[in-house]
Amino acid sequence: MSSLPRVTVPPTAGLPLRLGDLLPWGNANFDDALAQWLGVPAVQLECSGTSALMVALRTLKKLAPARNEVIVPAYTCPLVALAISQCGLQARLCDLSRDVLDMDETMLRALCSEHTLAIVPTHLGGRVADVRVAQHFAQMVGAYVIEDAAQALGARVHGEAVGMQGDIGIYSLAVGKGLTTYEGGVLIARDPEMRKSLRAMHRRTIGPSLGWELLRSAELVGYAAIYRPATLDWAYGAPLRKSLAEDDWIAAAGDDFDAFIPQHTLGTWRQRVGVRALVRLSAHLLQAHERAQPRIAQLMQLPGVEVVGDMAPDAQGTWPALLLRMPNRAARDALMRAHWASGLGLSLPFVNILSDYVRYAPLLGSAVLDSVMIARDWAQRLISVSNSEWLTDEKFAQLMRTLESAVHEP
Ligand SMILES: *Cc1c(COP(=O)(O)O)cnc(C)c1O
Repeated sequence: MSSLPRVTVPPTAGLPLRLGDLLPWGNANFDDALAQWLGVPAVQLECSGTSALMVALRTLKKLAPARNEVIVPAYTCPLVALAISQCGLQARLCDLSRDVLDMDETMLRALCSEHTLAIVPTHLGGRVADVRVAQHFAQMVGAYVIEDAAQALGARVHGEAVGMQGDIGIYSLAVGKGLTTYEGGVLIARDPEMRKSLRAMHRRTIGPSLGWELLRSAELVGYAAIYRPATLDWAYGAPLRKSLAEDDWIAAAGDDFDAFIPQHTLGTWRQRVGVRALVRLSAHLLQAHERAQPRIAQLMQLPGVEVVGDMAPDAQGTWPALLLRMPNRAARDALMRAHWASGLGLSLPFVNILSDYVRYAPLLGSAVLDSVMIARDWAQRLISVSNSEWLTDEKFAQLMRTLESAVHEP
């Protein structure tokens, strides 16, 4: 009798916490430690990447009150659309390029106008987007650039942390994005005046919340306890199988976000945990890089399969997962239907482009009409392969065989 395989591989290579990370004492200056680690003058901590994006948007809105449009890639995290709408701003969706997982230049130029508040180039899956294009068009119309580096903590370009090319950069410290405080977000900015404006906006609009902090602290303890192969099937595999049994890909991919975005400070104890875990982050990212390289070489041999690389020149992205573009939608869907819950680290970055989610499309207003055919094609063909240390060489070999037959099926 065959039974369902146990899922012991998370969809991304999160940094596991140790019990010692959870001690109640220690250095709580996570902002200073993170700034030093990133090699940037200062960081501003927020309670999530989404909250950080909202602080960034509100700050820019105050600097340029006549502007209200925010240009984002049509294929990105739905939380970005939530943040824009919560700030009373209008999203504009930019199509993707045919060749690279980055905004299409022609459409980006066409979307830019005197209404544009910000362009949001996005370093999806640790892959470094080409921010110079966005900067060029932003400068032409007097708009700002916010780098969404939520999935790219540790990625560098020209030797510098991503997020320092644009006016503001954001990182996420959510579960699954690398270093985590369960939820958390980071703002960086190269210009001291901008950093001052961001801090002022935080002071005016955000305070502590004991209730949220207790909840997040309990969730962080839970994460530290169960983020290991022995318990992952119970915590991740079982809900995944349930979602897939209901044919709910949005829940399976974790795209089912709550519409309410809490905003509060990041508590002291979680900052201490962050400081202790940060010590291991460089080694963790280096190991992920070294694990990824031979696997990328193997994946590139698969006929019709593309491995998504860095878009910007002179970039060193991070490898939380490997993003693959399958030859067509049918092959992608058949593969995911058969193997999403096989414990081989397969998942989807996001299920849809923003305007194809029934629950997020209403947030987009007139942007649902933006023509984004190529982004939709990307959404229908992308898969992600976990780069977790728990995807062993044996499991990866099994995944390679699975992918080989998936691309050879008629
Ligand atoms: C996760 C994510 C966000 C939001 O970050 P949270 O910390 O989860 O709120 C924003 N943009 C992208 C591309 C993301 O993947």
